[in-house]
Amino acid sequence: MIGHILEKAREYGAYDIRTIDPRKINVYQWVRMKCQFGCPIYNNNYTCPPNVPELDKVREFFSEYRKGILIELRGLETLDDQKKVQKIILRLERDCFLDGYHKAFGIAAGPCHLCKSCKAINGRPCNDMGRRPSLESLGVDVYELANSSGFPLTPVKRKDEEYKSYGLLLLE
Ligand code: SF4
Repeated sequence: MIGHILEKAREYGAYDIRTIDPRKINVYQWVRMKCQFGCPIYNNNYTCPPNVPELDKVREFFSEYRKGILIELRGLETLDDQKKVQKIILRLERDCFLDGYHKAFGIAAGPCHLCKSCKAINGRPCNDMGRRPSLESLGVDVYELANSSGFPLTPVKRKDEEYKSYGLLLLE
């Protein structure tokens, strides 16, 4: 099954995948603080704080899964590239659901980019089926998650450095 997901992930544009145990994902308050203080998207997107569950609910949520897949994308340059991770993770979620993983739930790093401008900005409701919380909004340290899963990741310091992004697919 993992080989099949890797094949699909690569077909959709991912670089590689790693299997992880979602029960071992750490959830941190400091990540929330960075969302709330220092990010312009705070309260401007329905997939970012404060429009997401409290951290105790997030911990409970991760504890309900025992298998997950982390996907890595490389060579991202523009915002359009950044949107790819959400699209890929949603396609994989659907594939896995249809393959019998009925609990499949995809979470991309970064806010939802499905609309040009998120309806949260004007307080209009969103009922888009592709809306999922961002990894950071759930208190996940993406650097820690990537590195502990075998994807070396450090902050990008220069414009000519390779930019990577990640998506988490919770399976069962
Ligand atoms: S689907 Fe659109 S309105 Fe809904 S969270 Fe995503 S960007 Fe915002």
